Amino acid sequence: MAIKRLLIANRGEIALRIHRAAQEMGIETVAVHSTADADAMHVRLADHAVCIGPPAAKDSYLNVAAIISAAEITDADAIHPGYGFLSENARFAEIVESHGIKWVGPKPEHIRTMGDKVEAKRTAGALGLPLVPGSDGAIEDFDEARKLAAEIGYPVIIKAASGGGGRGMKVVNSAEELQSQMGQARSEAAAAFGDATVYMEKYLGNPRHIEFQVFGDGEGNAVHLGERDCSLQRRHQKVLEEAPSPVITPEERDRMGGIVSKAMADMGYRGAGTIEFLWEKGEFYFIEMNTRLQVEHPVTEAITGVDLVREQIRIADGQALSFTQDAIEFKGHAIECRINAEDPWNFTPSPGKVSNYHAAGGMNVRVDSGLYAGYSIPPYYDSMIGKLIVSGRSRAGAIMRLKRALGEMVIEGPKTSIPLHQALVEDPEFNEGEYTIKWLEEWLAKRA
Ligand code: ADP
Repeated sequence: MAIKRLLIANRGEIALRIHRAAQEMGIETVAVHSTADADAMHVRLADHAVCIGPPAAKDSYLNVAAIISAAEITDADAIHPGYGFLSENARFAEIVESHGIKWVGPKPEHIRTMGDKVEAKRTAGALGLPLVPGSDGAIEDFDEARKLAAEIGYPVIIKAASGGGGRGMKVVNSAEELQSQMGQARSEAAAAFGDATVYMEKYLGNPRHIEFQVFGDGEGNAVHLGERDCSLQRRHQKVLEEAPSPVITPEERDRMGGIVSKAMADMGYRGAGTIEFLWEKGEFYFIEMNTRLQVEHPVTEAITGVDLVREQIRIADGQALSFTQDAIEFKGHAIECRINAEDPWNFTPSPGKVSNYHAAGGMNVRVDSGLYAGYSIPPYYDSMIGKLIVSGRSRAGAIMRLKRALGEMVIEGPKTSIPLHQALVEDPEFNEGEYTIKWLEEWLAKRA
């Protein structure tokens, strides 16, 4: 291992997750943090820590100059960006590499291609992935859009080429709404992402969100680690994820996994990536690719036994993939609950001091969180404060374990989404695995 000291350009549970993998590999860690995160768990545990700026992310976790300086000062020889923040910023990846620092991520050109969703679809189509019917590239002209929408059939969805995090999407139900919705999508995209480019897709009525985890060595070899079902969403944001998907057969997994790993091999993709699909009536439709580690990666780790962060670091170090496709076996079932500091029913953020904290434990229970008693959750960042991941031999067994583990979690002070998860796991349809991307919002509306 050439990497001796890894800078973690992130915060919260994922910074801690990366620190843990590095320590187990004998690699020292450097935490960089804003003034608001001086007391964070990963900062306390890291071998070195550098304050890189004030609370606002643009001045700290997005501050490229400060992060590069921190790497230079501490002699870090690699940077792991986690998810969010600079993780899918191709320019940042280039700057890191141009400083002779190893980038724990894909090749910058692949980050760039996949970060533009129009380019991503074009590339995916050329690599043989099935696409959602829609515009061939960006749509500029309204008349062109109207013609296309009539061909595809309403409803259609207008999406921002630079969109992310479930933002920058407008569903259009009829020709009358098209012009105003398209205009709104454009101006919202310009405001949120600095890019007004939009494209059109058929709006699928009731699909599931199913994504494949892939790993490439950058030299034309790639392996898939099966799928995750992330259909339980609120406002296009994932709430609970599981692997494997309750609706995908082993044959389908092999077939689709084979298609995605071949696509990644042909592309020369390096590192971890996720290919996201909508799935309806047995068909897959590519929507986007994420060129980074995902929040929900632990469910894949639980059923494959592969440490994805370790693998990312090994690949950045120039080593070969540590497994072949044949060596990957899918065992049992895993479920992850995202725990947010927010009101479980009206979703208003609830930051502040954690007066008491106790994490669930026991067999096949994992809690990834930087919380501790006395910690103050800062109000400046994402509300996700931890993840509870359980696994079992069967889906029913994993659900029983999840109920037990949710009951053991103690987080006093802020409100959390734990009560929502506790209600969700009691639902008969959830227990049957019968849900689509619309299900959770309908379920929430029924309870209100
Ligand atoms: P983001 O990058 O913002 O996460 P995605 O393209 O991955 O955007 O879409 C996020 C979610 O939006 C999907 O999981 C799905 O719930 C919904 N969605 C996106 N495209 C469509 C579509 N064509 N039809 C129906 N739902 C869609």
